[in-house]
Amino acid sequence: MPNNVFESLAHKDHEQVVFCYDQTTKLKAIIAVHNTTLGPALGGCRMWTYANEDEALLDVLRLSRGMTYKAAVAGLNLGGGKAVIIGDPKKDKNEALFRSFGRYVEGLAGRYITAEDVGTSVNNMEWVRMETNHVTGISRALGGSGDPSPVTAFGVFHGIRAAAKHYHGKESLSSLTIAIQGAGQVGYHLAKHLVQAGAKVVISDIDQEAVKRATNELRCTSVSPDEIYDVECDIFAPCALGAIINPKTLPRLRCKIIAGAANNQLEDDKSAAAVLQERGILYAPDYVINSGGLINVANELEGYNRERALQQAENIYTILTRVFETASAQKIPTFRAADNLALERIQAISHIKRTFTGYPGGQIRGVS
Ligand code: NAD
Repeated sequence: MPNNVFESLAHKDHEQVVFCYDQTTKLKAIIAVHNTTLGPALGGCRMWTYANEDEALLDVLRLSRGMTYKAAVAGLNLGGGKAVIIGDPKKDKNEALFRSFGRYVEGLAGRYITAEDVGTSVNNMEWVRMETNHVTGISRALGGSGDPSPVTAFGVFHGIRAAAKHYHGKESLSSLTIAIQGAGQVGYHLAKHLVQAGAKVVISDIDQEAVKRATNELRCTSVSPDEIYDVECDIFAPCALGAIINPKTLPRLRCKIIAGAANNQLEDDKSAAAVLQERGILYAPDYVINSGGLINVANELEGYNRERALQQAENIYTILTRVFETASAQKIPTFRAADNLALERIQAISHIKRTFTGYPGGQIRGVS
């Protein structure tokens, strides 16, 4: 077990961390429950070849905390959690491993609800489901929500409308140029919405098949992966990688707004936010604009209904507008405004629970 575990938990206010080991299946997993004030902690299960246990612990603590903020700002009755399985997703996956993980999830009796994530798939979650009902992201055929990407893309599209309205005073995208990095599952569906809304769309992808699909099927053009940063555009929509807003790319960007689906877009919060503000670029915080994926799986908990999931994803327009307005009024970076709105909601509900039920938990410190 890594050193200083309790120090790590205290540092980010975690409620509970479970280390899971099964000798027969060789399962090594960590489940982190960050905060359950708003509801059970929902977050995906990532499988990765972590170099060591400290690295895995750090990742699950960081990711689970992010889920608390994401669910809170999206208005969901969910807390934040995440799980990591230490292993190679290409070689080490099998039914027994995931069923063994499912038993640990079951042991938490609903405090943590799992889902697919990087390195795990819908099929893997179906193995987990053989041992527990506390799992989402299963196939439509089994009553689940299936691929979340179309709902994520729909949410990003409405987030882009909100950003355009805040920046230009009108939400119409018809005369705007939008550069999308990554024409994968989300990028492709996003491009489709944008083209339908009359925007001029430029895409890039390292996968030529993805480029061909988008340019053949939709009215959009393409540039090479490196050129996407130099495209003169109104909106840059990162839909591929994290950490792509960094000191190397920022001086090259020729956009007014950054609004896309990729997770962890800012390589370093403080410096990126300062530079974005200096350059007057409006940044749509990634975990707010891409919350359609979480909204989609969260809908499974009440019996999946696509219409309802899409309606909630559309509401990202209203949530982002509030984030932008708060940031402008308080003269703070937009990602800080989003964090503050999430915290305000958690603290308000935590207060109600303490007042009416004597519920002791749910305290969360302010962001620094
Ligand atoms: P995906 O793997 O289907 O698509 C990503 C695409 O990016 C691929 O086509 C890949 O070839 C391309 N790519 C990789 N490196 C690139 C580069 N340097 N330049 C250009 N293209 C590059 O993934 P996705 O499901 O579309 O997700 C896209 C992003 O959105 C990811 O960061 C993901 O974490 C985030 N996200 C996705 C969802 C969802 O519902 N799928 C939800 C929330 C956040």
